Amino acid sequence: MREPTDGMSPFEAVNFFFHGAADWLGLDDQTRQVLAGTYREIRVQVPLRRDDGSVETLYGYRVQHNGARGPYKGGVRYHPSADLEEVRALASLMTWKTAIVDLPFGGAKGGVQVDAASLSLTELERLTRRYMSQVSYIVGPYRDIMAPDMNTNAQTMAWMMDAYGQREGHTLSIVTGKPVELGGSLGRDAATGRGAVIVLDQAVKDAGLAPEDLSVAIQGFGNVGSWTARLAKAEGYRVVAVSDVNGGVYDPRGLRVLDVLDHVRASGTVVGHPDTETLTNEEILELDVDVLVPAALGEVVTSANVDDVRARIVVEAANHPVTPVADANLADRGVTVLPDILVNAGGVTVSYFEWTQNIQQFSWDEDRVNAALREHLVTAYQRVRDFARTHETTLRQAAFTLAVERVATAAHLRGYV
Ligand code: NAD
Repeated sequence: MREPTDGMSPFEAVNFFFHGAADWLGLDDQTRQVLAGTYREIRVQVPLRRDDGSVETLYGYRVQHNGARGPYKGGVRYHPSADLEEVRALASLMTWKTAIVDLPFGGAKGGVQVDAASLSLTELERLTRRYMSQVSYIVGPYRDIMAPDMNTNAQTMAWMMDAYGQREGHTLSIVTGKPVELGGSLGRDAATGRGAVIVLDQAVKDAGLAPEDLSVAIQGFGNVGSWTARLAKAEGYRVVAVSDVNGGVYDPRGLRVLDVLDHVRASGTVVGHPDTETLTNEEILELDVDVLVPAALGEVVTSANVDDVRARIVVEAANHPVTPVADANLADRGVTVLPDILVNAGGVTVSYFEWTQNIQQFSWDEDRVNAALREHLVTAYQRVRDFARTHETTLRQAAFTLAVERVATAAHLRGYV
């Protein structure tokens, strides 16, 4: 049995889970080496002309982790912490994520190390176009397809598509998560949050619980967090707390989520929403709630605070929000952790639908998108749950084992190893 330790880098942490799966499958060392490493990594200089005329030298990355099952697929993040090691971790999670929901993609991720909040809209556009043009040599609609992640959105994807098209000709399928008016899929905006709620619902049903009896706290109120909050409330859960980078708000009677969204539109933050108690981002993780949904940064539940987490279900809507040491602690305490590679796979699933719609030059209506998303996620959840039950293991170990098995099979069939 491998023992997790504190101080693992994000990529080491993901590979800790990978090796747990590889041990289970009895994978040979050569296959492990191929699957634990990355196929291609590039670091590009991204000089950004600021609105005041000065030039700031930024750095961006694109990491292609494994392409055995199809073209590389993964988002692009703008964040000061998006260094090569973090992007590697996120790229490898994409490989396991696309495998667990059985999409014909590999895994990749991109990032630019920048504080996006400090940039104007025109600076963001210049940054995006420059980054896309620097990495355009290794991406392509059958090579590597990008999508939004933290601090990037549909507008970012529109600029990326345009920048790529200037070099290669009009190519809708080069990015997903585009505006609907520009080839985006209906339902993509909500897809990651919708997927998180679908997976939570399945687990809640399996545990013999009812949404109406469960309180929920959500860290992060961007694309994923806000959609998770809206859809969880619509399913009957009591969403008592949400937060963003500025802090959180708490109302034990349940928040009026749509009003919180209005407050964010008006003020830029959830903080200050009327009739709520203000919380810090540390406090929201330790609230006395049934369900905790980290939906912002990685590594927020660690050995330092895991003993204070009181939720009985943790829904990993963010990528790698729980470190391996904290994960082992939660498992020992009987807390159900719904793992990121399953919980937040709704986004890439609808990205896949968008990509196929673009290639076919054909649009699906939203009901079709949502029904197909549900089918993919429920099937994946059931496989993971059944494996976990049969082998008396955690849902994370089950998800990684099933995903690694699929990728290893594809790698063997291709003759990689
Ligand atoms: P986003 O930029 O739309 O929102 C991020 C949210 O996190 C914002 O509310 C921001 O204020 C908050 N935040 C930032 N720093 C914080 C901090 N230090 N403490 C608390 N909150 C903080 O990003 P997103 O697309 O919603 O992504 C959120 C998470 O979900 C990321 O881990 C991302 O990798 C993951 N994810 C996103 C998608 C997608 O489709 N967008 C898909 C799969 C996984």
